[in-house]
Amino acid sequence: MKLKIPKTPSVHMRDMRGRGRAAGGGGGGLPLPAGKVGLPVLLIILVVGALMGGRSIINSGGESGFNIDNPLDSLQESGQANGAGGIPAAEDPDRGQLLFFSAVFDDVQGYWDESFRNTGSQYTFSEIRPFEQAVDTDCGNATDAVGPFYCPADQGVYFDLDFMDELGTRFGAPGDFAQAYVVAHEVGHHLQNLSGINREVSQLQQQDPDRANELSVRLELQADCLAGVWGHNANQRGVLEAGDLEEGLAAAAAVGDDRLQQQATGRVQVETFTHGSSDQRVEWFSRGFESGDASQCDTFSGDY
Ligand SMILES: [Zn+2]
Repeated sequence: MKLKIPKTPSVHMRDMRGRGRAAGGGGGGLPLPAGKVGLPVLLIILVVGALMGGRSIINSGGESGFNIDNPLDSLQESGQANGAGGIPAAEDPDRGQLLFFSAVFDDVQGYWDESFRNTGSQYTFSEIRPFEQAVDTDCGNATDAVGPFYCPADQGVYFDLDFMDELGTRFGAPGDFAQAYVVAHEVGHHLQNLSGINREVSQLQQQDPDRANELSVRLELQADCLAGVWGHNANQRGVLEAGDLEEGLAAAAAVGDDRLQQQATGRVQVETFTHGSSDQRVEWFSRGFESGDASQCDTFSGDY
């Protein structure tokens, strides 16, 4: 990627490293307005009718619907993270990586902020929160065993740096754009939260547990597609280099349920999928990337 990396982290990054279980004071959440969240037309269109048969999907706040995003939960054992927070910037061995994620995060959110504005809506910024070993969130406690995730209750994107390394070393998806895809996917969940899709889906899952996994897959594939929509725009702006798209596709394939299950247990159980197969993830990411159009990301009607 040809991304301009600033010397200081984004204002939308909060370093949670070393703040483990004791962290989370000061409320933990973003100072978000309690009222209505601006609703982007483009995302509402996606689910009206498809999900609810005409019932309003509009919600605000995104209080519920915690959907920890753990494509690797059965695999990650532990990455001995070292060190603790409070590291002076000059002595932080992960400084370069943090600045990179920070820049990607800003690029992705900058794109959505503009898109929202173009549709007359207001985008609410998420916060990216790197952590190591464990972290307290408004969605509960999490360890680095779960992989990157989005917490709707505090609107934070959480990830540990070890996972991003392992994406390349362990899951065969190296490269900066592979990592960027993961970040953009999590921002996709934030968009789903702002538009109320997250919440509708978790309500449906409670009402109809038999469909819980299927709905989870549809939600995840939509986040992949939305990541692709950003990728399309980044490509148009000249941010991508030769090979970047392939890195993104490889990353989408690497976190497919079938691939992960095969690696973990040697067999594949489609009915237990929660994120979609490698092929599905690649297909929906590609759909977003090729079209650059979020209205193409309707994973809730028809087949997926
Ligand atoms: Zn996800």
